[in-house]
Amino acid sequence: MSQEILDRAHAEELDAADPLGGYRARFALDDPSLVYLNGNSLGALPLATMARMDSMIRAEWGAALAGSWDHWVDLPGRAGDLVGELTGAAPGQVVITDNTTVNLYKLASAALGARPGRHVIVTDQDNFPSDRYVLEGIAAQRGAELRMLATDINEGLAADAVRAAVDEDTALVSLSHVAYRSGALADMAAITEITHGAGALMLWDLSHSVGAVPIELDACDVDLAVGCTYKYLNSGPGAPAFLYVSARLREVLRQPIWGWFSQRDQFAMGPRYDPAAGIAKFTTGTPPILGTAAVEEGARLLLEAGIGPMRAKSMQLTSYLIDLADAWLIPLGCALATPREAGRRGGHVTFCHPRAEQVVGQLAAASIITDYRTPDRFRLGLSPLTTRFTDVWRAAGATRDILEQTR
Ligand SMILES: *Cc1c(COP(=O)(O)O)cnc(C)c1O
Repeated sequence: MSQEILDRAHAEELDAADPLGGYRARFALDDPSLVYLNGNSLGALPLATMARMDSMIRAEWGAALAGSWDHWVDLPGRAGDLVGELTGAAPGQVVITDNTTVNLYKLASAALGARPGRHVIVTDQDNFPSDRYVLEGIAAQRGAELRMLATDINEGLAADAVRAAVDEDTALVSLSHVAYRSGALADMAAITEITHGAGALMLWDLSHSVGAVPIELDACDVDLAVGCTYKYLNSGPGAPAFLYVSARLREVLRQPIWGWFSQRDQFAMGPRYDPAAGIAKFTTGTPPILGTAAVEEGARLLLEAGIGPMRAKSMQLTSYLIDLADAWLIPLGCALATPREAGRRGGHVTFCHPRAEQVVGQLAAASIITDYRTPDRFRLGLSPLTTRFTDVWRAAGATRDILEQTR
């Protein structure tokens, strides 16, 4: 590695050459001294979303009141189709509804219902807590077995580990596309094919991959997917999540929460539950309209930037951070806890250090926001639309200075 890449001037050159550099001005990031590397936990606020919320509150809620339901009612499906465009899903298969945890419950339950006689759910030890807990709960309710795969928590889950775990008893394999801790990217096409080979259904959690890596749900023949919208999709705290059900399965699956928004001919107020034919079948009750509109704005902005350019910049950002870490942080006792190969990771980079929690606190005191993950890890989330190469340079340099001072 040449010394020059360690200079601030190099980061400035990368920023100047960045085709997505202009997008940062589309966000409410007013404090020039703030380095925000936690967009994989809560994404920044797009200016378009601020304007949309203002007009929705004043005009659509304040003035037009319940009359606005005539266009609000289609919003979850409309915004869902935009998220579908980001995730390689043809229209009518994605809807914005509930939160990721509830959506996982609905789809995993539906999947088990569609595989009678099979009693095994497969997931991995390092899957996100809510995912593991929901699957544990479903297994307990149904007398099913939850098969927990051992994962290398830095390198992620290998397709062969899934191959060795599935059999004729497996009803469902449920995994995260990008691991929340390491950022490792799973091989969606290969693992989905292995799962189908055993006759099981495949459910992907896209929370840490949507908006950061290209996703091809239809092309990979995925059955089911869920994901949250407040990370790289920038839709705001508690914005509703999305779910995907392949058109192949829409008619067959039955979800467990029978609400009036999933009823065919909802306003007939009929005596018995009769599920809607389309993707609305997987919704429940009244959708959070403001949050759903924020998802629409977030998805629009990402589609405008393009997932190709975003992935290219994301890989460049994470590679640059790893180069700086090799020079500055690894010699001071940090270990890389993310795959080294750019194609095998998502948009964040994690390091291990015995004083990780203290480092995150001291970085925050210097207006550099990162994220601590138990027991000894800190994550830097590099959002392609808002992170500058000079931000990465500053964060890596400040981490080096903190580690040197507290050695
Ligand atoms: C962030 C995240 C969630 C969040 O679930 P909520 O129900 O929205 O709190 C779920 N799964 C994964 C993999 C996540 O990264």
